[in-house]
Amino acid sequence: MIEFVDVNKTYENGTVALASASFKIENGEFVFLVGPSGAGKTTVTKLVMREENVTGGHVYLDGNDITLLTQKEIPYLRRKMGVVFQDFRLLDDRTVYENVEFAMQIIGASRRDIRRRVPVVLNEVGLNYKAKMLPRQLSGGEQQRVALARAIVNRPSILIADEPTGNLNPKTAMEIMDLFERINSMGTTIIMATHAKDIVDIMHKRVIEVEDGAIVRDEQGGAYTNVDGQI
Ligand code: ADP
Repeated sequence: MIEFVDVNKTYENGTVALASASFKIENGEFVFLVGPSGAGKTTVTKLVMREENVTGGHVYLDGNDITLLTQKEIPYLRRKMGVVFQDFRLLDDRTVYENVEFAMQIIGASRRDIRRRVPVVLNEVGLNYKAKMLPRQLSGGEQQRVALARAIVNRPSILIADEPTGNLNPKTAMEIMDLFERINSMGTTIIMATHAKDIVDIMHKRVIEVEDGAIVRDEQGGAYTNVDGQI
């Protein structure tokens, strides 16, 4: 479970990205973070990963206050998380297989585990047959599949996605969302910041809406826009 309690995040230049933000996400949930650009969505994801730390309040992961972690402890926190971004962020000079393999090498997995696990995950995202290709030889949708494979290869309990369909056409975006749905159905918690109205509306998941650093809506089975049509 992830719990934000009265979280404030003020960046060094004085920008207040979150103010008194509180919410709870249970294990296995699928949550969309929506809201205008600059609302504070990415800041939420960065606080969960401890890429940033709060300036007030607490963030708990399974009951532990992760705002108190030392730099040395942060890598262990990150092992519980996978992350995908709008721009894929693959290693350009490595093959599909090597990109996924790398995520396992970082955590010190054995060669045997790597040899076993990488093909399984590539199969899950439908890319086994492109294992030897380089990212630039792939379509955007395929690159995002590689990024997803890399994100889940170490079996994280939480998958964080920041605008993962932003560079994809609508059809490809839906295919990627099907993958997220499958990953979620196997028990992984998903937190996805997005502007993709169509997707949020179709999927009927929990929607947390952020505006000017405040949680202004938190709705199960919600749509991108609330009934008043605010965003
Ligand atoms: P969103 O993801 O909803 O677009 P962000 O969480 O990225 O919003 O940003 C929230 C606010 O914090 C914005 O005003 C943004 O400009 C500001 N901000 C984000 N990162 C930084 C940073 N590293 N330094 C200063 N201000 C930042």
